[in-house]
Amino acid sequence: MTECIFCRIVSGELPSSTVYEDDHVLAFMDIQPVNPGHVLVIPKEHAADLKDLDPHLGGHLFQVGQQVAAAIRGASVLSEGVNLLVADGEAAGQEVFHMHLHVIPRFANDGFGFHFSPHYHDQTEREELDRIAEELRSNLGG
Ligand code: 5GP
Ligand code: ZN
Repeated sequence: MTECIFCRIVSGELPSSTVYEDDHVLAFMDIQPVNPGHVLVIPKEHAADLKDLDPHLGGHLFQVGQQVAAAIRGASVLSEGVNLLVADGEAAGQEVFHMHLHVIPRFANDGFGFHFSPHYHDQTEREELDRIAEELRSNLGG
C-alpha cells in the first residue's frame, strides 16, 4: 500500500472533494485552503516533483489549472485574482511529494503573499543576466 496521500486520494482510499477528473488528471479541494476555493490539480500517476512529471502531462495539468481558475472566477468564492503555484522541492515549500499545481483564489489583504529578500529591489547587472541566460540556454540544449 502506498504511503503517498495524493495517490491514496486518486485510488479513492482517502476522501476528497473532486472538482475535475479525466484519465490523467484529478483536481480536488485543498483540505487546508489558503483561501476558500483553493484547488489542487495533480497527475493521477505518481510523480514526486517537476523533474519526474512527463512534460506533455505537465501541459495538460496547466490547462486544467487554467480552466479551474476560470471556474473560480465565476464562482461565489471571493476571488479578485488567482495564483497558479507549484512548490517544487522542499526549499520551495513543497510538503507533499506528489507533484501538484495550486490554484489559489486571491483578494486584496487576504494575508497570503510572498516574502522577498532585502535585495529584491536591486536590479541585476546585464552581464550577470546574460551569463545565467547563456548557461540556461546551454542546459536547454539550444
Ligand atoms: P505543498 O506545500 O506541498 O505545495 O502543498 C501541499 C498541499 O496539500 C497543502 O496546501 C495542504 O493543505 C494540502 N493537503 C495536505 N494533505 C491533504 C489531504 O489529505 N487532502 C487534501 N485535500 N489536501 C491536502
Ligand atoms: Zn503519489
